[in-house]
Amino acid sequence: MSKEHYPEALPKSDPDLDQVGDDSCMDVINDAISKQSGIINVALDTADEKITFDYDPLVMDGSQIFQLAQDLGPILHDRWSTCTMRLDRKGGRACESCALAVENRVQRIPGVRRATASFIGGVLSVNFDEQVISSDELKGRIRQLGVPISPSAVDEPFEDAASAEPEGTIGRFRQRIQRRHVETVFVVIAFVAMISGLIADLAFGLTTLSTVSYVIAYITGGYFGLRAGLTSLRQGKIDVDVLMVMAALGAAFVGAAFEGAMLLFLFSLSNVLQLYALDRTRNAIRSLMKLRPTEAMIKRGNQIITLPIEKVNIGDRFICRPGERVPLDGVVIEGSSTLDQSPLTGESMPVSKNVGDTVLAGTINLHGGIEVGVTRMARDTTIAKMIQLVEEAQSEKAQTQRTIDRIEQYYATGVVIVTVLAIVIPVFVFGEAFGSAFFRAMALMVAASPCALVISTPATVLSAIGNGARNGVLFKGGAYVEQVAAVKVVAFDKTGTLTEGRPVVTDIIPITDGVVADQANKNGKLSSEQEELLWLAATIENRSEHPLARSIVKKAKEQALELGQASSFKAAPGLGVRATVNGDRFVIGNQRLLRSEGNLDLSEAEATIMQLQSKGKTSILVAQSSLDNGASKVLGILAISDVLRSDAAEVIQELKEVGVKHVVMLTGDNERVAQAIAEQAGVDEYYASLLPQDKLTILHQLIEQHGPVAMVGDGVNDAPALAAANVGIAMGAVGTDVAMETADVILMADELHKIPYVFALSRKTRRTLLQNLIFSFAVVFVLVLAVFTIELALPFAVIGHEGSTVLVSLNGLKLLRYKPS
Ligand code: ADP
Ligand code: MG
Repeated sequence: MSKEHYPEALPKSDPDLDQVGDDSCMDVINDAISKQSGIINVALDTADEKITFDYDPLVMDGSQIFQLAQDLGPILHDRWSTCTMRLDRKGGRACESCALAVENRVQRIPGVRRATASFIGGVLSVNFDEQVISSDELKGRIRQLGVPISPSAVDEPFEDAASAEPEGTIGRFRQRIQRRHVETVFVVIAFVAMISGLIADLAFGLTTLSTVSYVIAYITGGYFGLRAGLTSLRQGKIDVDVLMVMAALGAAFVGAAFEGAMLLFLFSLSNVLQLYALDRTRNAIRSLMKLRPTEAMIKRGNQIITLPIEKVNIGDRFICRPGERVPLDGVVIEGSSTLDQSPLTGESMPVSKNVGDTVLAGTINLHGGIEVGVTRMARDTTIAKMIQLVEEAQSEKAQTQRTIDRIEQYYATGVVIVTVLAIVIPVFVFGEAFGSAFFRAMALMVAASPCALVISTPATVLSAIGNGARNGVLFKGGAYVEQVAAVKVVAFDKTGTLTEGRPVVTDIIPITDGVVADQANKNGKLSSEQEELLWLAATIENRSEHPLARSIVKKAKEQALELGQASSFKAAPGLGVRATVNGDRFVIGNQRLLRSEGNLDLSEAEATIMQLQSKGKTSILVAQSSLDNGASKVLGILAISDVLRSDAAEVIQELKEVGVKHVVMLTGDNERVAQAIAEQAGVDEYYASLLPQDKLTILHQLIEQHGPVAMVGDGVNDAPALAAANVGIAMGAVGTDVAMETADVILMADELHKIPYVFALSRKTRRTLLQNLIFSFAVVFVLVLAVFTIELALPFAVIGHEGSTVLVSLNGLKLLRYKPS
């Protein structure tokens, strides 16, 4: 019995969280494998995202199992939908430990598999089983729990269009004002009231007026803090909001109303500053949304009408004039032009588009007018996916942040206890006057509060994610920014990643004549044996998505061959394809695949293959299998060459400079071809002739040997390897949904030099995080020390505390402007 593990087949999950609904996951799997005879047992491990198959090696082989795992992956993925909502803050400081509480409560809704929330990012993201609960029901349940949510950015225009529901409109209007402006106005009033209270008291001795002023200052300065504090108290948590309000009330109680008012004012001022600052990190999404035109010029018959994009259907045709933004994803039907794709991909060069090419919503048409057939509805376009991913990323917290959020709860409780002791011990043990002991205790409490610590990580990580989004790099969450920074080894897939990925058929070498002719000439139009061989190969490869397959089809189209129909098509990943044409069975692929056919004489082909490979050309064999006498026969060879990207060597050098220790190339291609490419690129090590499952094995080895590994691939035929690596980076993902789903970091552009940028940005982020952590701790340490040694007064403690909070936020925000050197 053999075992195979497939980590890639499951949607990502958090091992800490309880797994509701795995039974239904098992149902899906059992359904799928009931048709397979060789499977003995299947075990699902959601914590490790793994499926383990026990199978009978006599009935099934490794590659069949692999195929099965690959088939299952998307089914499981589809079953679980993710719904992202905006999470509204109820004023006060963004409370990330409250977000933890929200996650836990949402998690308990039946059908929900995983929930992530961040008040700072302003996002709640829920992964759930559509067969158990619909997304509307889910939203209803979440609202019932008292979680303040509104539609996500992707849904917004749709809701606006249907704004017949007045409540929603007013609600949103109110939010928009609330966020920045009300808090700003409150802070200003608090300041004015505080100062007039002081003047009334000191200059004129008007106690009533000063009392009224201080009351106003307390209300306006403390309102949002109190609200947020009450919310967390209700959840049984003490956080900084509670601490601040308590300190202010305490100050009033001992007759130091001015100090208390000042504390609340400074506290809410720094809150507002943070609010403005953090809003800038959310601009990443807002600027993506601005890329989407809201209307399209649709051609209906001879008429052209302007429609909102959400009313446009698949198959409609729209017109896009020079200088305009493309409104929806589609395929060019008429005309040709050059498009600036940089808003989506960050790539530097405009791309030319002709009839049959894909154009994407949000890109800019530079030259000619084009007519485009719509292929995706407004909410499924690439740009809509990007917006959704960036939103989800904002709820996906970095490891550091999760740790800090957890610690904060205990830390804040500890601070309260110490504060109480700092009053009780001096007063009752040493007989100190209550007033002075109380003041010291309040100063201590403020000094020790972990606000800077709490805000520093999200401010930094969100800025990094925002910077990435502007450069066409999508991190799926803060966790990946941190993980990339820790990577020691980068493994590259060869085809389409280190090489151009535009393989070209260079030689067509028929070996056996006769059989090809019988086959192809049934349509009577092929003039030479070479054309016949190409026709046959292209007819079959037309069904495959592999870059090599596409190059063969392209070659046939260049020669104006009219392709036939292939049936019973089956791909053997990493090997080749099998199919039937006009009733005969054929195999196309590498030597390994053909050897498995049995009864095949490769001797005649061998010499030619050797010759081609030493020139760095990949040779694809075409053979007919199961002839009447049971034997198979090689019909010919196609040689394909795929050149190294011109900047590959330079990029690998740059990676070394930003601290990557080891660079590896993985390929399913032949040893000799691999060696030629590896030498040119300057990688440290290469592994050739790998089947997709071998790539996984190698990745695990690399992780054991060197530490965290990042795998770079195109995300389409490398999906398993991307998922198995610590960080999966998909390159050139624009327009390919699979790649966007499986990778952890997505490079929209098909450009290698974005990879050193990703590493540099992540490392810079890690450095900023560390600076912020050290600084926050140092400030707390120094302030607490000062309280005990030089009797630091409360207002100075407040200034030190709030000042450090604003400073770490600003330090994090610098990453928004980070540019690779
Ligand atoms: P890489 O690791 O370089 O991306 P793959 O694992 O996708 O390569 O494929 C490995 C080898 O399998 C190719 O070099 C080729 O010989 C063969 N192969 C895979 N798919 C096909 C196909 N559709 N047609 C012909 N040969 C194929
Ligand atoms: Mg590949």
